[in-house]
Amino acid sequence: MLASDYLDAVRRLPIGTLGDLTGGQPCVVLSPHPDDESLGAGGLIACACAAGQRTEVVLITDGGASHPKSPSYPRQRLIELRRAELEQAAALLGLPPDHVHRLGLPDTQAPTKGPPFDAAVDAIAAICVHAAAKSLLVTWDGDPHCDHQATARIAEAVCRRHKEITLWAYPIWGWHLDPAEPLNRPAPEGLRLDISAQQARKRAAIDAHVSQMTDLIDDDPDGFRFTDQTLAPFVGRYEYYLKVTP
Ligand SMILES: [Zn+2]
Repeated sequence: MLASDYLDAVRRLPIGTLGDLTGGQPCVVLSPHPDDESLGAGGLIACACAAGQRTEVVLITDGGASHPKSPSYPRQRLIELRRAELEQAAALLGLPPDHVHRLGLPDTQAPTKGPPFDAAVDAIAAICVHAAAKSLLVTWDGDPHCDHQATARIAEAVCRRHKEITLWAYPIWGWHLDPAEPLNRPAPEGLRLDISAQQARKRAAIDAHVSQMTDLIDDDPDGFRFTDQTLAPFVGRYEYYLKVTP
């Protein structure tokens, strides 16, 4: 199947409800970088918070690699800025401050094996158990980004340990795969969530990540920022969740 066909099938997934995703129970959202939570799952987080459903966000890396050559925002200042942006986004989505957790790993170094991987699995499993989570949401392992794929692997390991937790994947960079790239995957299963009631709130949370959405940091020619084109998959009426069998 070509990436374009796969993504078309994702866009046509049946419409489901928050209850179909979470069973009305607490959920945990894993975000490799500050902004993935709002882009991929901001509507769901806002819906769940508005419904009084316990929701926790776990930030995996510190996001300190988005503007590596900026003189005005050296790494530690950038990390602190992105930390504050995530706090603002979380508040806009309705998350209490103590429901945002951080593993604090360096950007681009989310682990895939060894003791650091096991430690990440242990930490996330403990958060899930403490929250009595029945669903875990993570970036799609088809996203062409090392941290997104590593975070997907970590989530799978958590769910293999805790069979009571259902795993869902939300695509971020997968939306921008080369349409002609062959994907060696079965047809997608999952659902799309109508977030129209929360769309404005989600957009405000995305925009709270000012360092990623604007030219705030303008002194790094290699610095990252979203464009209208790269943002397009995330500002529509639906969010997309793929069922994952860990
Ligand atoms: Zn990311």
